[in-house]
Amino acid sequence: MADTQAIKDRVDIVQLIQEYLPLKKAGANWKAPCPFHHEKTPSFMVHPEKQIWHCFGCGKGGDIFSFIQEMEGLEFSEALKLLADRAGIKIESSQFNEINKSQKNRIAEINSKAAFFFNHFLMEMPASAAARDYLYKKRELKEQAIIDWQIGFIPDQWDLLTQYLLKKGCSIDDLVASGLTVKNEERKSHYDRFRGRIMFPISDVHGNIVGFTGRILVETENSGGKYVNTPQTIAYDKSRVLYALNKAKQEIKAKDLAVIVEGQMDVIACHEAGMKNVIAASGTALTDEQVRLIKRYTNNIAMAFDADTAGQNAAKRGIDVALAAGLNIKVITIPDGAGKDADECLKKNSSVWFKAVEEATSIMDWYFSRILKGANLNDPKIKQRAAEELLTEISKIPFAVEREAWVKKMSELLGSDTAILLEALRKIKSDIREPIHARGDVGKAESRIPVINSGKLDMLQLEISALIVKYPSIYNALRAYVKPEYFSESVYAGLYENLEKQYNTNSRATLGDFKLNNESGENIIDLLSMQSEKDYADWDEKKCEDEAGLMLSELEKNFRKLKRDALARELKIAQDMGDAVRENELLQKIMDLTN
Ligand SMILES: [Zn+2]
Repeated sequence: MADTQAIKDRVDIVQLIQEYLPLKKAGANWKAPCPFHHEKTPSFMVHPEKQIWHCFGCGKGGDIFSFIQEMEGLEFSEALKLLADRAGIKIESSQFNEINKSQKNRIAEINSKAAFFFNHFLMEMPASAAARDYLYKKRELKEQAIIDWQIGFIPDQWDLLTQYLLKKGCSIDDLVASGLTVKNEERKSHYDRFRGRIMFPISDVHGNIVGFTGRILVETENSGGKYVNTPQTIAYDKSRVLYALNKAKQEIKAKDLAVIVEGQMDVIACHEAGMKNVIAASGTALTDEQVRLIKRYTNNIAMAFDADTAGQNAAKRGIDVALAAGLNIKVITIPDGAGKDADECLKKNSSVWFKAVEEATSIMDWYFSRILKGANLNDPKIKQRAAEELLTEISKIPFAVEREAWVKKMSELLGSDTAILLEALRKIKSDIREPIHARGDVGKAESRIPVINSGKLDMLQLEISALIVKYPSIYNALRAYVKPEYFSESVYAGLYENLEKQYNTNSRATLGDFKLNNESGENIIDLLSMQSEKDYADWDEKKCEDEAGLMLSELEKNFRKLKRDALARELKIAQDMGDAVRENELLQKIMDLTN
């Protein structure tokens, strides 16, 4: 499709992927640790010229569209729209009509119309005077902040918004699906979910409005909770959204830190005060999906949470998820009397808040001080309980060396033997049957690591092919030793067929002219050239040829052994069946192989 090529031409793949991963230059390529499987050494490569990416660890790869699909969990048509918007290209094809027809996109439209309506109503209507008073005076917000955050208001009426959106041409089914309109099944009538509320739009990481939080303005008997949120819809999944991440992501990356606060007002107050790397989990404990979103931009988070127990329990669950994902977590403590949350603290004295963020303590230090504070460690029972609590927290750290360091600290503070504590830690760890970090997609990706790197034979076939792609003349030098059967069952068979053809016809075709695709449609030659960039970037031709020669003899050895083992198995069967002719045949073959 011509449209996709036009988009590829306009979008720089390195720039695009860099928004998600810390790409580093490696020869002609760029590389980073793969976001789709767990790894320490980077094997995720991007080739800017060919506009492709590939992970040599888990085998995933493709172009900008497949990257966005994988990364954002989108359908192709959704990725197409996202990248077309980015490239500033209008797509006129049938595919685009499909996109426009999708309910998810219609809901996004509806949400943005609703946000406009709420904001307009707040700013212009006399009926919003009390709401404006609340925001300007009590919350001390400036008009520009209300515009920037698209804060709005809807008065306490039955179906004001629903009627407005129906007049704008939205269908009642879409309105119900968006969560803005509620259907009363008995009376066969429809009404607004949000009534008499200050409205905060919630955006996804790209800035599309996916839902709303409505805060009650005047609490009455019938008003239902202080906060009402958009329910789960096809556009809104609260476990996948972080409030203000769309505004904060660049600053999070620049500061290499995400500050996580409790509520929307806290976020807005921080941003307005000039601290712009601040986000909020929408009233839930951090989820796996949210942690993965954060990890696109940083591995460091600082969390502030309400002093009450409920707030702390929710925060605790989120901390466990973040710890298991390997994030560095700090805890922000607002000094006594300086306010109960970020918003209050900023209003009382903004420098106290900035200092609290600056001086956030690491989560383990925070646990240590909380658990050991005032504990009488001379009482063996109390000491035992404190040790168990601390070891339970330490056991959640996915890194062995870090765990050991904390155990050492524990041993100093408690005056207990390190060996005993380590033993106790092992016991706690084995009690946790399924470690949290083994769940979720990371674990799944690891279990389906495919073909390309598995087995020595595969590895040798891959590396030899990569060297030949780097310096095709190596093939001519080693040709006499390359037996087609070494590669006949690998994905590289086609490469050798072509090389041989080229050799025999003295063709001047270059490797780039071969179109050899693997199962997922990636060009094998491109992948091999990235592989050689990754492993042999500054090797000269001679060194590469020697290496290829060594590998080739290794491959031959492995290949023979494999063959021999297979023949031996056949031989055994022939002997068992008393098939003397076959037995002789096989013996001869085995002899041939050994020579
Ligand atoms: Zn990977």
